[in-house]
Amino acid sequence: MRCPFCDGGASRVLDSREAGRGVRRRRVCQNCGQRFTTYESQAPLALTILKRGGRAEGYDRAKLLHSLQVVCYKRPVPAVQIEAAVDRIEAELARLGQSTISSLQLASVALDQLSSLDEIAYLSYASSVRRFHDAEEVLAEIEVLRMLQRRNAEARVQMRLQFDEDQPHWN
Ligand SMILES: [Zn+2]
Repeated sequence: MRCPFCDGGASRVLDSREAGRGVRRRRVCQNCGQRFTTYESQAPLALTILKRGGRAEGYDRAKLLHSLQVVCYKRPVPAVQIEAAVDRIEAELARLGQSTISSLQLASVALDQLSSLDEIAYLSYASSVRRFHDAEEVLAEIEVLRMLQRRNAEARVQMRLQFDEDQPHWN
């Protein structure tokens, strides 16, 4: 990170804080003593989404975030939790390690996150993806929602057990 005043290469970090999806750092140049701010952000996810009609488009975080904000509108879900859900969706997509996925795969990863965020938001999202024809299909989707909720609750318990095992025991 070069100093914007003298182009010197060495600087010391005075202060770091989380800012959005990145980290904001106050630095002091070790050459000229001027202070400047740098901003580090996570690299965007490079992923191609295959749409239903066969059209391909680049993954767009803002678009995904917006689609979750729409279904969470007037639901008791804080904005930071929607952002965090998008982070977890991206982490899951990165874990899959594929360079191309279908829009339906993306939707199922998003629904998995929504299942533990808000049930009505989940059903709104599912409705726009699956295009329900009747109430039976909605009931079937509620079964899927319940299954995801059970699975995620079990995963959280497993994680806690793992965490407890990892803790040192002093007695
Ligand atoms: Zn400098």
